[in-house]
Amino acid sequence: MQPFIYADNAATTALSKVVLDEMMPYLTNEYGNASSLYDLGNRSKAAVNIARQRVAAAIGAMDKEIYFTAGGSESDNWAIKGVAEAMAKKGKKHIISTAFEHHAVLHCLERLEKNGFEVTLLPVHENGIIRLDELEEAIREDTALVTIMYANNEIGTIQPVKEIGEICKKHGVIFHTDAVQAVGNVAIDVKDCSIDLLSMSAHKFHGPKGVGALYMRRGLVIPNLIDGGAQEKGRRAGTENTAGIVGMGKAIELAVSTMQQRNEKLIQIRDKIIDGATKIERSRLNGDRVHRLPGNVSLCFEGVEGESLLLMLDLKGVAASSGSACTSGSLDPSHVLLSIGLKHEIAHGSLRLSFSDDNTLEDADYILSVLPPIIERLRAMSPLWDKIKSEEKGE
Ligand SMILES: *Cc1c(COP(=O)(O)O)cnc(C)c1O
Repeated sequence: MQPFIYADNAATTALSKVVLDEMMPYLTNEYGNASSLYDLGNRSKAAVNIARQRVAAAIGAMDKEIYFTAGGSESDNWAIKGVAEAMAKKGKKHIISTAFEHHAVLHCLERLEKNGFEVTLLPVHENGIIRLDELEEAIREDTALVTIMYANNEIGTIQPVKEIGEICKKHGVIFHTDAVQAVGNVAIDVKDCSIDLLSMSAHKFHGPKGVGALYMRRGLVIPNLIDGGAQEKGRRAGTENTAGIVGMGKAIELAVSTMQQRNEKLIQIRDKIIDGATKIERSRLNGDRVHRLPGNVSLCFEGVEGESLLLMLDLKGVAASSGSACTSGSLDPSHVLLSIGLKHEIAHGSLRLSFSDDNTLEDADYILSVLPPIIERLRAMSPLWDKIKSEEKGE
């Protein structure tokens, strides 16, 4: 029988059984409103508090610096638009970011540009990493915010976050990082890295979908996200998603406590596939080989059409992605791959494999057994590949 291999963990992860068990009471008997005063509600409140402690502990924050939201996109929107609104009042309307952020960040910036903000997008170069001197040069008197992702969702590269934090601190600029891909996968300490705001999302580390959090450094004041009741200290109103929050707390605790062992395995899987797949003629690894997420493999194959590659992998039982789930469905090549300097036709032949604890080294063997023949078949049908080969021969 053909296996099923889920290799799209950067898009979302499976809900862990342990996490579901922890959530179940709050989806059934423990339905009390966490803001109520009777015991049933108090038990929900206590569960939310424990989850807040777990999320805070996972990133080196204080409980009161954690605000629950409905996910990564919401946290990014709150952080960026919130800081923008607060700083505009002080006459600061310049924001620095990078060319390969998630759309939850880039589209916020586009909106702000329409409202009179100026945005500088730093290049991320061929290795998918910003240069610190270019960041420092870009900072101006009126810079309100630096928002740079911790780890990229398509090519997995990890930014020098501690150094970025130091530069921002030195210049008195607020630093937000979209850490949705990093939380649970790499060790994070918001104090050590001088991070002012950090976005995370539970479904990227085996928690439930539709719940996330924003870490906001104590003392930082930005406008409320949702006006209404007193939930989340009155800054993000709405009855608490108790089950979701409890699930996020359990999932992050598990992800962090098992990180070291898991990453040793993920790095083996990752490197095995990188070594095997880059033996294929005219293939390349996207992004830095070393400074990348333990579970991320991002490849390009010349003369191959990414969507066809995904369909053929699916027929072999491998669920993968050509880049980000948010760009698929459009025929434009990924802005991330273009940002590291790939030409359009090469960026079209991309493949992202992203792994979690559920994957094994046998999965890597299986993928390496089905991938080369698929590439060969697709190239045999590709006029682009014919062109590449005839140019090679100097015809
Ligand atoms: C998935 C993802 C998001 C969006 O998170 P949601 O919880 O799905 O809204 C934002 N940024 C990055 C880097 C992501 O990978």
